Amino acid sequence: MTTTNPHNIDLHTHTTASDGVDTPAELVRFAVQQGVSVLGVTDHDTVAALPEVQRRADAAGITLVPGVELSATVDRAEVHILGYFVDIADTGLTEALHDLAMSRYRRIEQMIEKLCGLGYDIDGDAILAQAEFGSIGRPHVARALIEIGAATDVPDAFDRYLKAGRPGYVPRDPFMPEDAVRLLVDHHAIPVLAHPFTTRDIEGTLKRLVPVGLQGFETYYAEYTPEQHEELRAIADEWGLIPTGGSDYHGVGFREGRILGSAPVPQEVAERLFAAREQLS
Ligand code: AMP
Ligand code: ZN
Ligand code: FE
Ligand code: FE
Repeated sequence: MTTTNPHNIDLHTHTTASDGVDTPAELVRFAVQQGVSVLGVTDHDTVAALPEVQRRADAAGITLVPGVELSATVDRAEVHILGYFVDIADTGLTEALHDLAMSRYRRIEQMIEKLCGLGYDIDGDAILAQAEFGSIGRPHVARALIEIGAATDVPDAFDRYLKAGRPGYVPRDPFMPEDAVRLLVDHHAIPVLAHPFTTRDIEGTLKRLVPVGLQGFETYYAEYTPEQHEELRAIADEWGLIPTGGSDYHGVGFREGRILGSAPVPQEVAERLFAAREQLS
């Protein structure tokens, strides 16, 4: 019988290097407070936070799982792929991430233009300046809309302006989940399908991604119910995937249910993830 320690492992978090609110130092400090001892940091399309997070985690006695989260789309539906044990010294990987971050930048520029054209007086330069340290995303635009009083909180800004079909929306450049998985495999990282319920067709997605090297399936996602965790665990077991988990923490108050350290990730998961790292060639 494996033991479950609900406040110990969190493999999905964001920092100011992408669209999180906490700096690397703040994230690690909060992880200590929350009793997280194995911390995965998975910023969108950037590894810029990882050196600082590593230093802070070492000093705090936290085990860091260095990661990244890649955003792919299938027919406009989002498919996010987490990559664990990324090597930040691998310039082939960091160059590919830079291209993805540039594509994000252009998309957000277009979204700002659209919103300004509609009369929302947001400061585009100030928004885009936040990409300097890593990557930019829609939550940065959401915060600017809140600042000018056009939205009450981040989910409200998405609902009104930033989701597909809303006036500020611009689709991403095409990037297939297969390409995301291959990129990670080629650079010796472990690819994991993030928050599977975002993906319209879970079985179909696994049929596409397992053959190209998918190794994990984000089962213990904090926003999901215990029943959903069980349902996802059965799928992970059926496909032989590591049932990872995490909170998708982006900062306090960013979105309900995404509380650092709140995902019930079993100890066994960290063990399997570290064992898989040993198998990486
Ligand atoms: P982007 O990567 O620029 O497309 O922005 C997507 C990010 O925004 C993801 O990290 C999500 O966590 C966050 N996000 C997406 N939809 C919502 C929503 N409805 N409310 C709050 N955050 C959201
Ligand atoms: Zn995010
Ligand atoms: Fe995601
Ligand atoms: Fe995320």
